[in-house]
Amino acid sequence: MGMSEAIGPPFWLLAELTYRCPLHCAFCYNPVDFARHEEELSTEDWLRVLREARALGAVQCGFSGGEPLQRDDLEVLVAEAHRLGYYSNLITSGIGLNERRIRALKDAGLDHIQLSFQDSTREVNDFLSSTRTFDLKRKAAALIKSQNYPMVMNCVIHRLNIEHIERIIELAVELDADYLELANVQFYAWAQRNRAQLMPTHEQLQRAEAITQQWRERLGTRMKLLFVVPDYYESRPKKCMNGWGNVFLTVTPDGTALPCHTARMLPGLAFPNVREMNVADIWLRSEGFNRYRGTGWLPEPCRSCPEKEKDHGGCRCQAYMLTQDAGATDPVCDKSAHHELILQAREQATQPKLTEQPLIFRGPAESRRIDQPF
Ligand code: SF4
Ligand code: SF4
Repeated sequence: MGMSEAIGPPFWLLAELTYRCPLHCAFCYNPVDFARHEEELSTEDWLRVLREARALGAVQCGFSGGEPLQRDDLEVLVAEAHRLGYYSNLITSGIGLNERRIRALKDAGLDHIQLSFQDSTREVNDFLSSTRTFDLKRKAAALIKSQNYPMVMNCVIHRLNIEHIERIIELAVELDADYLELANVQFYAWAQRNRAQLMPTHEQLQRAEAITQQWRERLGTRMKLLFVVPDYYESRPKKCMNGWGNVFLTVTPDGTALPCHTARMLPGLAFPNVREMNVADIWLRSEGFNRYRGTGWLPEPCRSCPEKEKDHGGCRCQAYMLTQDAGATDPVCDKSAHHELILQAREQATQPKLTEQPLIFRGPAESRRIDQPF
């Protein structure tokens, strides 16, 4: 899309209500410097954001975090989203859900809940999140079911749990899930910090995919299984966020509006705050949202590539993290001059001694200690 063409509305509003979270996942997708952005939008601010984004045309609203249940105004926000006509989705670890809140959320008109698990076993679940939350999550699953929500589960897959893939699927069956997303870890934020320990080998990945396929056949229509392949084992990048400023509008806990939840790390780009600018101006006119919109800005080799409409040159954050140039071709692409970096990471995954360093767990103290924004 060139700048002369009309910009369509955002489809999704992703409201990251808070960075507070009782868990400490070693692969957390929140920015590593989250603790420096502690100030949260008020209920009034969020209500206004919901209205402005809906007026612009957004139809889906995802409430995430951190752990969105940490906000005690979640039910108020959900009710307003419902009144405005959004399809609303809660993305939660389940911690903080109880009988009273699930009823209130249902009454407020919440449409959909996605519950995350870290593993099929208490030991690994609790180790990876550095909490004792496995049993609480099972209770949350039962509460979600009790209100007749479809059971939508998500589990981030990586080297430390990929061998449990079968048991993870069995757990989902046991909890009567309708949908299970096996999302192989992508290397951003905390996961990037722990990349050597979290990256599976190609062999592990292939085995996990084959097991998933067997279960897919076995379960038929009873449960839908989605297996998301990690970028590092692809030769073409993803069309990140379905295109920059194309479908998704993320608002972070402190009100910064971003085309994706990690874009704040990109240097030299000003991202507006919903306290200072209305959502329409942010989406249509701000520099941050226009900088990488469409394909007109692409450098070579993307500019003359026949596949550019398919992937828009990949992910800006991944390009920046790996090449220090946010405008570069995503190194996942085998036409990138930096693709070697991806091959090196794959090679490293086969060398056990490099993969055994201790994990860095997400937490405020650790976040303040880290001096790089990614
Ligand atoms: S990934 Fe883990 S630590 Fe991060 S927000 Fe989600 S539940 Fe919390
Ligand atoms: S060169 Fe660019 S446009 Fe072509 S496939 Fe690779 S990332 Fe996509």
